[in-house]
Amino acid sequence: MGENYENIERLRRVLRDANSIVAFCGSDMVKTSGYADIESDDVFYDIEERYHASTTELYSSRCLNTRPEKFFDFYRNEVIGEQQISAGYYALAELERRGKIRSIITKDVHGIPQKAGCQRVIEPLGNIYKNECPKCKRQYGIEYIRNGDKVPRCESCNTAIRPGIVLPGEMIPNHIMTAMVDAISRADVLLLLGMTEVFYELEKMIQYYKQDKLIYIRKTPMEPNRRVNIFINDSVEAVLPQAII
Ligand SMILES: [Zn+2]
Repeated sequence: MGENYENIERLRRVLRDANSIVAFCGSDMVKTSGYADIESDDVFYDIEERYHASTTELYSSRCLNTRPEKFFDFYRNEVIGEQQISAGYYALAELERRGKIRSIITKDVHGIPQKAGCQRVIEPLGNIYKNECPKCKRQYGIEYIRNGDKVPRCESCNTAIRPGIVLPGEMIPNHIMTAMVDAISRADVLLLLGMTEVFYELEKMIQYYKQDKLIYIRKTPMEPNRRVNIFINDSVEAVLPQAII
């Protein structure tokens, strides 16, 4: 209680005085929103058993290109899912209504921040709703992928449709990288929310933050890090709503 309580008080003061917050939403915010984390150990074994391949093999551009039926089977059943919005996202939306948010950078590909009411969202890994034919660039929504053929194909040119997400190992588009660097270098507060994974592209971004209000909130403990100004060892949904009251 003690240490976290004090840190939440500090966080409350920081948020009250902030007017250009950049928040990163890591994979713990996705899990607490009701998604199975396809990178976690229990899910990993379950998937291997059901698909006779690992998540790493299935969720890859290689699988998409060489075994698209298998890729789309996995994508439909494990990636496109039912969604719940955790309290942490509503707290971000409230901060945005108060004019305090510059950008919300999310690892999520399901548009969860937007469903909670956030508008200033950057999605470096794309999203599942905007899909495109790689050849003629015709656009397709989620339903076309969800209900379409085993391998959904373009109605104009019959090319397999490309889901609108960045798969592991693929490059984040340049204009998105630029938008993130721009946002972070102008941020007065940097909130790292539920980030547990190694997420190189985003972690590299932290170097562009030059102020002294780098705040980490996550449930798993972490090594002391001199760069971090406040660390709160609890879940985002427990901490953030309290800190904005
Ligand atoms: Zn096409």
